Parts: sequence; structure tokens; C-alpha cells
Amino acid sequence: MREKYKKAVCPGSFDPITNGHVDIIERAAKIFDQINIAIIENPDKKSFFSLKDRVKMVKETTKHIPQIKVESFHGLLVDYSNKVGANAIIRGLRAVSDFEYEFQMALTNRKMNPELETVFFMTDHKYSYLSSSFVKQIAKLDGDISELVPQAVLRNLKRRQK
Ligand code: ADP
Repeated sequence: MREKYKKAVCPGSFDPITNGHVDIIERAAKIFDQINIAIIENPDKKSFFSLKDRVKMVKETTKHIPQIKVESFHGLLVDYSNKVGANAIIRGLRAVSDFEYEFQMALTNRKMNPELETVFFMTDHKYSYLSSSFVKQIAKLDGDISELVPQAVLRNLKRRQK
């Protein structure tokens, strides 16, 4: 029997959610009892999809996973994690290029709250090249992204094109 209820936050812009994110979330859900997907509301950074749409697409995509809760947040991640009672942050790692930023963020968050552990999931090789910005670039040029993103994202893009 496990001793402690394990609750994590999975923060990100999710602009939009991709199949790479879904893979990380599904794998993390096998380990954690509850995961709050925390969608960053950043007024300084212009997003392609509105916050409302990003939340909606993530909710639709993860509705088959019972321990997932989807919320938006602004401010410090350590404060949000504290508020929801999470003791871990989930992040995904792709190529070496992700490492420096993730390393800095993990150490900064640990400095602010030593009880909050960052847990990294290594990408599946199928998604190692996949990023939200890559998806947006292809979509803007009318390329086919059906293999890269969940159905909810494809539906949203189709609605926009009408
Ligand atoms: P942020 O704006 O905070 O970088 P993203 O929405 O781009 O947020 O990503 C959230 C998390 O998901 C990050 O840890 C990122 O490295 C990870 N991630 C994004 N795409 C992939 C992928 N294809 N495979 C694995 N992890 C990924």
C-alpha cells in the first residue's frame, strides 16, 4: 500500500496541447493519484489560442483520465502548487535543448520551495521533435497536423477556418 496521496501539477502554455503533451500526461497519471494541469495565463505573452480555448481543448482531450483536473493559473507556480496541495511538478524533456531552461526552472522552484520536487518524463521518440510552436507554424501554412494533435485541437482549427 502506498503511504501518501501523490498530487502533482503539470504546468504549461498548451498553446495548443499536442500528442507529445498527451503522452506525458497519460504516463504521469499511472504514477500520481491526482494531476492538476495548470494552464499558464500570461498577459505579457500573446498566445495563438485564447486561454478559454486552451483550457477547453485540454479538458476535452484528457476527459478519459479520471485523476486529471484542468485549471488556468497566473502568478508563481510554487504558490499555485501550495494552494492546491501538490508536492510535485511534472515536466517533459525532449532534446538536450530543453535541458538548460528546465534545469534552471527546477532549481529556482526548489529554492523557493524545497518540498516541491520536479519530476521529468522523457519524451517518447515519436514526439521528440514535436512542439506547440511547430504545430502552429504548420497550421498557419495550411499543412496537415492531424497526426500531431488531439481531435479537440483539429476541431477548433477547423471552426476558425470557416
Ligand atoms: P511552456 O510554455 O511552459 O514551455 P509547453 O506547453 O510548451 O509549456 O510545455 C509544457 C511541458 O510539456 C514542458 O515541460 C515541455 O517540455 C513538455 N513538452 C512539450 N512538448 C513535448 C513533447 N513533444 N514531448 C515531451 N514533452 C513535451
